[in-house]
Amino acid sequence: MKHNQSSLPNLLDMNASEIEALGTPLGWPRYRTTQVLKWLYQKGVSHISEMTNLSKDDRDRLQGVATISRMACSVSEMAGDGTGKFLGKLDDGLAVETVMIPEGHRRTVCVSSQVGCTLDCGFCLTAQIGFRRNLSPHEIVDQVWHARKSLGQGEAITSLVFMGMGEPLLNFEAVAEAIQRLTNAEWGMVMSPRRITVSTAGWVPRFQDIQRLGVNLAISLNATTNHQRQLLMPAVNKRFDLMQIMEASRAYAKRSDRRLTFEYVLIARVNDSVEDAKRLVKLLRGIRCKINLIPFNEFSGSSYQRPSQEVIEVFQQTVRNGGYDVYLRRSRGVDVLGACGQLGRMASEAAHIVPKGLRKGSANARS
Ligand code: SF4
Repeated sequence: MKHNQSSLPNLLDMNASEIEALGTPLGWPRYRTTQVLKWLYQKGVSHISEMTNLSKDDRDRLQGVATISRMACSVSEMAGDGTGKFLGKLDDGLAVETVMIPEGHRRTVCVSSQVGCTLDCGFCLTAQIGFRRNLSPHEIVDQVWHARKSLGQGEAITSLVFMGMGEPLLNFEAVAEAIQRLTNAEWGMVMSPRRITVSTAGWVPRFQDIQRLGVNLAISLNATTNHQRQLLMPAVNKRFDLMQIMEASRAYAKRSDRRLTFEYVLIARVNDSVEDAKRLVKLLRGIRCKINLIPFNEFSGSSYQRPSQEVIEVFQQTVRNGGYDVYLRRSRGVDVLGACGQLGRMASEAAHIVPKGLRKGSANARS
């Protein structure tokens, strides 16, 4: 268990059973654990003294054995289209980015699961800062809490996507515990698991675990041949090639009542041809799914380019003709680098990390 500056353990670093165990020597009845958890996840308090339905004695005794230390967060940048990017400051000086995307009455929050990423996808800005560390469950939940706090009257988070910095399936235990805190209907943030999507670059052994959590799975595919995938996503492709991913996706879709989502970042002259679109249709044959097309968002240091609107539309129509629901994701928050594949710049600046593409002598380019 991590200790903060006060040297007392942080209640947010504990799961429900650990908090219950903390109350045992204090002689607490079980419902007191639920009261504490509600203060943490439904009211979002930052001090034990604010837990006003606990007696003064109980609060004092709890303050003697634990504390609350939340991640500090600021709305750092707001794009012209209303997309907000938050920078969460972690205890060890690192930082993490979260994005809130408004669309009509909908509010989608895109959370990060790691600082940086171990995978090295060629079209991804996060990949350029390398891997720093996994986020803890509360560092994930606090991102959602801060996004929720920024909402106006009558607004609510309508969906949550694990599509920010990092590969969530490589930090599965923390992501699963965070989802438990976000969805618990008794003391948690009461979000529906149906409104949560975990996006993976293709970490096959964890697909089944995601199914057990009751949330949605999205697979960042981005290629229709192994050769292409090796070029774009070499680290994950080395472990699980395209055929293994398609086999696991097929098995997942058979067992699930939910539609799988495939994400496909469209990159000019790399994976955006009509032949690619036709191969994609063939690959997905027999899988109940939808496809999100994400035109590449250009950033400094990347040699990849966004396809023309005409090429994007032809690709979309070809996949649609193949019988699939295929959606074009509008680029939101591009002016603050808050769009897909663009998280990492503020986090690296805050932690004084120089992204690979900007290091001296690099000629680089990057879910
Ligand atoms: S695309 Fe996703 S999995 Fe790949 S490097 Fe970026 S954050 Fe990691």
